[in-house]
Amino acid sequence: MPASSTVLSAHNLVKTYGLSDGRKVRAVDGISLTVQAGEVLGLVGESGCGKSTLGRCLLRLMDVSQGQIVFEGQDITHMSEAALRPVRQRMQMVFQDSHASLNPRRRVGDLLAEPLKVHRQADGQRRSSAEIARRLSELMELVALPRNALDRYPHEFSGGQRQRINIARALALSPLLVVADEPVSALDVSVQAQIVNLFADLREQLGLTYLFIAHDLAVVRQISTRVAVMYLGAIVETGVTDVVLHHPAHPYTRALMQAVPRPVVGGMRLPSLKGDVPSPMTRQTGCRFHMRCPVAQPSCVTNVPALQRLGDGREVACHFPLV
Ligand code: SF4
Repeated sequence: MPASSTVLSAHNLVKTYGLSDGRKVRAVDGISLTVQAGEVLGLVGESGCGKSTLGRCLLRLMDVSQGQIVFEGQDITHMSEAALRPVRQRMQMVFQDSHASLNPRRRVGDLLAEPLKVHRQADGQRRSSAEIARRLSELMELVALPRNALDRYPHEFSGGQRQRINIARALALSPLLVVADEPVSALDVSVQAQIVNLFADLREQLGLTYLFIAHDLAVVRQISTRVAVMYLGAIVETGVTDVVLHHPAHPYTRALMQAVPRPVVGGMRLPSLKGDVPSPMTRQTGCRFHMRCPVAQPSCVTNVPALQRLGDGREVACHFPLV
């Protein structure tokens, strides 16, 4: 696939949940994005902003309520499970909880062999036992675990090692796209860096494309080539990582950056962000950030800001971008 081709695109995606009282919550509220071959798109935002829901929708692990998802040129939005099976080999997910995502009663070798047994090869043939054994050895080497790890159970490993096993499982079928959902947030800081470096090395070595979901901006800055900042189900700023994170134009992005305990933000300082992300059940008018925005104007309460492209190529959903 050429370096500039689009691997995944989403158009006006909406994911709605129905509540017992009949109301509806929009966890994902009209998101459009693209992921280009070979890039790392970092998806950031506070807990509850809808980024994990978006990741699951994009991989069709949950159905969307509206919109369209295109993967490698195929519209997969409403594809049946049977039709999705070969597509799933090309798109995989690494989850946050390395413990819960590995069956404790099965040896690592069995866990990693499962996708190789379930999915046929491109020529329609099943893999032989020798081919599976060879692939398992390759996977252990890729994630820097010893070959004998295949004979052990998940509980015998540390959190970082378990996440290496999860990454190996995601790589088993040689995917093109990996969606990593908070893959290091449950790990110690020293281990986090090792796992982020492993993701970076694997991308280089295997030509992978990532959608990397995280709430930690330092992690996103370390690995992402492009970043999309989410707030209450929508993208409020997106662009090249260095531009967005060093000179944020959206007040929310700037507030997030100022919360990072390092002097990394250029431009004027804003008052700290107050309060939590409002419940998506709260009906809001105007800008979805206006209740917490330190520079909100009266018009922000009534007028919804659309994503607009700035001169440096980024897109920002704000009537008064900080540029
Ligand atoms: Fe703040 Fe107004 Fe911009 Fe929304 S549109 S982020 S409330 S300045």
